[in-house]
Amino acid sequence: MAHEPVDVLVIGGGITGAAIARDAALRGFRTALVEKGDFGSGTSSVSSRLIHGGLRYLEQYDLHLVLEASRERRVLLRIAPHLVRPLPFVFPVYRGARVPSWKLRCGLWLYDLLAAFRNVRVHRWLGRKATLGLEPGLRDKDLRAAGLYYDAQTDDARLVLATMRSAAQAGAHVANYAEVVSLVKPDGRVRGATVRDLLSGDIRTVRSLIVVNACGPWVDQLRRLDEPDAGPVLRLTKGAHVAVPRQRLGNTHGITLTSPIDGRVMFVLPWEDAEQSYIGTTDTDEDVSPDDVRATAEDVVYLLRSANAFFPQARLSPHDVVATWAGLRALLRPDGHLAPSQVSREHRIIESASGLLTIAGGKLTTHRVMAQELVDRVAARLAALDGRPRAPHPPTHRLPLPGGETADLDGLAKAAVERGASETAARHLVGRYGSEAAAVLNLVDRDRALGGRIVSGRPELWAEVVHAIEREMAVRLSDVLVRRLHLFYKTRDQAVPATSAVVDRMAGALGWDGSRRAEELAAYLQLVKRSRAFAREVATIENP
Ligand SMILES: Cc1cc2nc3c(=O)[nH]c(=O)nc-3n(C[C@H](O)[C@H](O)[C@H](O)COP(=O)(O)OP(=O)(O)OC[C@H]3O[C@@H](n4cnc5c(N)ncnc54)[C@H](O)[C@@H]3O)c2cc1C
Repeated sequence: MAHEPVDVLVIGGGITGAAIARDAALRGFRTALVEKGDFGSGTSSVSSRLIHGGLRYLEQYDLHLVLEASRERRVLLRIAPHLVRPLPFVFPVYRGARVPSWKLRCGLWLYDLLAAFRNVRVHRWLGRKATLGLEPGLRDKDLRAAGLYYDAQTDDARLVLATMRSAAQAGAHVANYAEVVSLVKPDGRVRGATVRDLLSGDIRTVRSLIVVNACGPWVDQLRRLDEPDAGPVLRLTKGAHVAVPRQRLGNTHGITLTSPIDGRVMFVLPWEDAEQSYIGTTDTDEDVSPDDVRATAEDVVYLLRSANAFFPQARLSPHDVVATWAGLRALLRPDGHLAPSQVSREHRIIESASGLLTIAGGKLTTHRVMAQELVDRVAARLAALDGRPRAPHPPTHRLPLPGGETADLDGLAKAAVERGASETAARHLVGRYGSEAAAVLNLVDRDRALGGRIVSGRPELWAEVVHAIEREMAVRLSDVLVRRLHLFYKTRDQAVPATSAVVDRMAGALGWDGSRRAEELAAYLQLVKRSRAFAREVATIENP
């Protein structure tokens, strides 16, 4: 990308940047994208993993957002059926609840209406007995009824990867571990960026007709490279999650709750295999840098206390936490004072005097339409610059993401079993790679040792490490263990005992010397330590 000028340079490789690069490349624009960490390593891999209309936004009368998000839910279920799965939710109503039955019933009708009754299924209203039949772990005292409604759940990190790979397949040049350190403004207009390769230390200049700032919670920092005195457009609020063993809660649906602590809507969500549920999220104003955000003891205790109030048998304590994750919501700064949960999740595009296009706010769910709107602006600017005709919108709403070519996941799993995979391995591979599960199995055909498990008792295969390096642009240990394979979240020890063997495998493929291996291990252990820092702090606060 430093070789020849491009039409559009996207800074930030989260879901927003990836979708912009995909849309721009599909329109035929010469496109480059740089990301200072791994793809998706910012907010886009620490979300609540929901592709949802956003039932709770109805309380704020944000009908436009719900309408748009509901439409996008349908699109994403279609273009990435392996990564975006329907999930039924139970929203229990208790006597004296902040959201009373009548309000929830109206809300659920409106939710279905805004989805044009084309959601996964239309909601149902359940009596007390039927509710406990579906979710026996829920507190029965004061339970009145529940709404059963539908949304979708995704693998956020892999959704970014799939979108990024789709962009690359359409011709975009994309680079991770490439940080923009300054902007190039030869004539007062932003015409590119100076980029530092964080792995080699090399500095390169990428020249571009248009530069886009898609840096999520970092957008204000990036804007200051353009205008040092730029005031903030964002209000940052933190959201934390904890993963706990599923059997403690026993939930098989997503559970929507209003926290007894502050009345906020939150979720208890099942995750992939039957082993885990996660609880999220908090919503608190935060002034820590987006690079340093983590779940604190207060966050963990708030989440566990809220869940325990609805699942009294669970008696979850901080010792039960398998993993934590946290991120900053890049919300548009509102006029006037609002509680964090009331700030709109809409997005905005801002153009600076020197032409830097910034996209701020938004949702994981709405990334595709946000990207389309942004690239419409790019197309208009390019047309004005050199008179090129405006390309029509590319069919991003129906072009499958890599692995999403078929929705017949059962058929794919059956084919994997016929090739010798166990039933568990087949389900696991198809759930993660869709039609590309076959590519992972090809690696096993080449080298039977790659069919072995990385962690005993878990389905992840060694072939996935090779696939992550060869096909999914993984270049660091954490890329593999955190965002490609998720072992960081799945195992109580964050897969630390397996790290040396994974590093050996990566070193062989990527030519690492001894010092790089040591660096990778140390960086990963540091990440683990940070995610578990709450455990040391928790002794100082009351038990949940
Ligand atoms: C706790 C939480 C839960 C959420 N849950 C949901 C949910 O369930 N459903 C939903 O729809 N939405 C959810 N969201 C919102 C959603 O996650 C975000 O809207 C979305 O991930 C933002 O993506 P992004 O690409 O704009 O930002 P990011 O993913 O943060 O990407 C920005 C990228 O820019 C990079 N960057 C920064 N500076 C530079 C630089 N100088 N050079 C190069 N790269 C740079 C960063 O490393 C980062 O990767 C949630 C958000 C949070 C915080």
